Amino acid sequence: MSFFDEATETLPREQLAALQLGKLQAMMAELWGRNGFYTAKWQAAGVQPSDICGLDDLAKLPFTKKSELMADQAAHAPFGSNLTYPVEAYVRLHQTSGTTGVPLKVMDTHESWDWWGRCWGHVLAGAGVTAADRLFMAFAFGPFIGFWAAVEGARKIGATMIPGGGRDSRQRLELMRDTGTTVLCCTPSYALRLAEVAHEIGFDIGAIPVKATVHAGEPGASIPATKRRIQECWTAKCFDHAGASEVGAHSFECHVQPGGTHLIESEYIAEVIKPMSGEPAAPGERGELVITNLGRWGFPVIRYRTGDLVRVNQERCACGRTSLRFEGGILGRADDMVTVRGVNVFPAAVENIILTFAEVDEYRITVSKLRQMDEMDIEVELREGSDPDLVHEIAARLDAMLAFRPRVRRVAHNALPRFEMKARRFHVKLD
Ligand SMILES: [Zn+2]
Repeated sequence: MSFFDEATETLPREQLAALQLGKLQAMMAELWGRNGFYTAKWQAAGVQPSDICGLDDLAKLPFTKKSELMADQAAHAPFGSNLTYPVEAYVRLHQTSGTTGVPLKVMDTHESWDWWGRCWGHVLAGAGVTAADRLFMAFAFGPFIGFWAAVEGARKIGATMIPGGGRDSRQRLELMRDTGTTVLCCTPSYALRLAEVAHEIGFDIGAIPVKATVHAGEPGASIPATKRRIQECWTAKCFDHAGASEVGAHSFECHVQPGGTHLIESEYIAEVIKPMSGEPAAPGERGELVITNLGRWGFPVIRYRTGDLVRVNQERCACGRTSLRFEGGILGRADDMVTVRGVNVFPAAVENIILTFAEVDEYRITVSKLRQMDEMDIEVELREGSDPDLVHEIAARLDAMLAFRPRVRRVAHNALPRFEMKARRFHVKLD
C-alpha cells in the first residue's frame, strides 16, 4: 500500500471539506484585484471572495468554459488575462494538444509547477511507484503538457525517469529493455501500439520487467476491454489517470480495481452537473464534471466545465483513501455522444465491445448519412489467420448493444492510422 501524502489522503471527509474551503478562500483572496479574468467575471456576477463562507457557496460563482478562456486569450494575446501575477513570475508555458482548433496556452509559476508535481506524485503513488522504480515516458516532449508534469511527479517520489522522446517505437522498446524499465507511462493506445510493434519485429516484450503501466490522454485505461488487453500484452497492472492542461492532473486509479479513479480532493473540488441545464446532478447520477483547482493560483480554473462525463462514488475505498471516486473513470465527453438512428452512441462503449475480440489490432468508426439514413461503418484490422466471419460476429455483438447493425469491414494490416497521443478513431460526418 503506498500513499503520496497519507495524512491528507485518509482525512475524514468533514476535515477534507474544511481543508478545501480554506484553500478556496485563500486562493480567491489572492486572485481578487490581481487576476483580471476572474476579478471581472466575479464582478459581473455580483460576487466577491467574502461571499464564500462554505462550500455550498461555490454555487454562487459562475461557471468557467474553455471557450471563455480561448476568447480571453484572443482578446489579450498572447497569454490572456487569467494570470494572477506579472508574466515574469511564470516559469513554464505549455499549450493544449490543439486537436480541435487553436491551442490554449497555459502558464505555471514555480509554485504551481511544483503543485503539478505533487498531483502527479499522487498518481504515481496510487500505481505503487516507489523510489526503486524506473519510469519510461513514451511521449514526444513538445509543448503539449502531457507527461511533462509526470516527470516532476517521478522526481518527488525519487523514482528514476527515462525520457522516451525523439525516437521510434523500436528504439523505445530497446531503451526500455536496456534500462530495466519497471513502469511505462503513455496513452493506452500507444501501450498497445508498442506491444504490436514488438510482435511485428519479433522483439521479446518479456525482456522488459514492466510491472505497471500508467496512462493519460485518453479514457481507454478505464474501458474494461482495453484495460484487459494492455494488461495481457504487458503482463503488468494498468492504471488510469485523468487530467487536462487547463485543469491539472486530478484523478487516478489505486490498486483496488475496478474501483474507479480517485479525485485528489486536497487539491481539487469536484461538482457534477446536468450538461444541458447546469443544475446539480443527483448523487450517483452520470453528469458533467465541473472542477476547481486549488493549487494553481497563477493560472486557476474555478468551476470549470470539463465536458467530461463522470459518475461519483463516495463510498470509502478499500485502499484507505477517503477521496471520492469516478466510477469507471471518465465515461466519455458530453460532446462525444452521437445520435445514430435515434440511439445515443458513446465511442467508449463501442470500443469496449470491439476490443473484446482479441483478433482486432486496430479499428476506425465513421458515422455518416447515406440517403437520409444514419450509417455506422467500422473498419477493422484483424490479426493474420483470423476467421473472415469475425466481422459478422462483431456486427452482431454491436447490434445487441445498439439495437442497430453497423457495417463492419476488414481492411489490410496497417491500413489504419496509429496514434501516440489523443487517438482519433471515431469520425462523424453528419450534417
Ligand atoms: Zn482506492
